[in-house]
Amino acid sequence: AKAEGRNTWHWFEGLSPTINSEYVTMRRELMEAIEQQQFEVHYQPIIAATSGRIRGVEALVRWRHPSRGLIAPGQFIPLAEQTGQIVAIGQWVLQRACADIATWNRQHSQELTVFVNISPLQFRRYGFLQEIQRALEESQLAPELLELEVTENVLMSGTGRAIETLGEIRDMGVRVAIDDFGTGYSSLRYLRELPINKVKVDRSFITDITDNSGNAAIVQGIITMAHHLGLRVVGEGVETPEQAQDLEQRGCDFLQGFLFYRPMPLADLHPAIASGKRH
Ligand code: C2E
Ligand code: CA
Ligand code: CA
Ligand code: CA
Repeated sequence: AKAEGRNTWHWFEGLSPTINSEYVTMRRELMEAIEQQQFEVHYQPIIAATSGRIRGVEALVRWRHPSRGLIAPGQFIPLAEQTGQIVAIGQWVLQRACADIATWNRQHSQELTVFVNISPLQFRRYGFLQEIQRALEESQLAPELLELEVTENVLMSGTGRAIETLGEIRDMGVRVAIDDFGTGYSSLRYLRELPINKVKVDRSFITDITDNSGNAAIVQGIITMAHHLGLRVVGEGVETPEQAQDLEQRGCDFLQGFLFYRPMPLADLHPAIASGKRH
């Protein structure tokens, strides 16, 4: 078995799904994976920019394939979106993440927020709110400690209904962050109207923020605007101390990236935090 299948798997990339047998194989394997719960959730800490303290963790799914080892989400989420299997996977991740972090918080007397990625299909599905309710009840996680990450595109399509769903989520006390902000069909007008709590600035804007590029202006604009709307801002994919410092100076509230921590299994979370690894 080959561990870390990361770059070795390009099954359906550039292939026509309908005629490709690898697509069929992978869909079947995903079905087995769902039945046999071959998924794992890793957690990446998100820190407060000024204090450097960990405020939450993002739940990121991995597939523990019986022969191919650990597979990154980029290698199977797109297919799972196409086949609809993302709904079952996402539901499992939501439950697992709430249970893991509720338990972790109890054990360590902390109040970390858990950020969970929600696919468009999952978000739009009838019964999604009950799904959230169930995950909270079973885990006994406080609703304020759950924050759902949705992309702009989820909110733009079928907008009326999406806003309604967001309102109902807020009424439950659960928070919402817009993921990969700046990469979708953003409409600043919608941002004002949406009942959301945070925007996560996409890594593509952070990467060259210190090069005096136009991206620095974009990031500054997003932060300023978000703050005016009462929203908090997370900078994603922070890899260098310069990027972290730049974001902090621009008023970015939270930072996430390899500079601080990589995604890790739940068991590693406490040791990693305790060792206080920071730049
Ligand atoms: P995302 O939601 O934008 O998650 C952040 C991705 O960036 C993660 O990749 C994370 O490991 C990576 N990352 C974090 N810090 C850095 C950094 O400093 N540098 C670089 N180069 N990368 C960094 P990952 O875990 O491979 O996940 C990829 C994508 O898969 C996620 O992007 C998300 O769109 C999707 N995904 C992951 N888990 C789930 C899930 O449970 N449900 C759904 N629907 N999608 C998921
Ligand atoms: Ca995310
Ligand atoms: Ca993101
Ligand atoms: Ca992304």
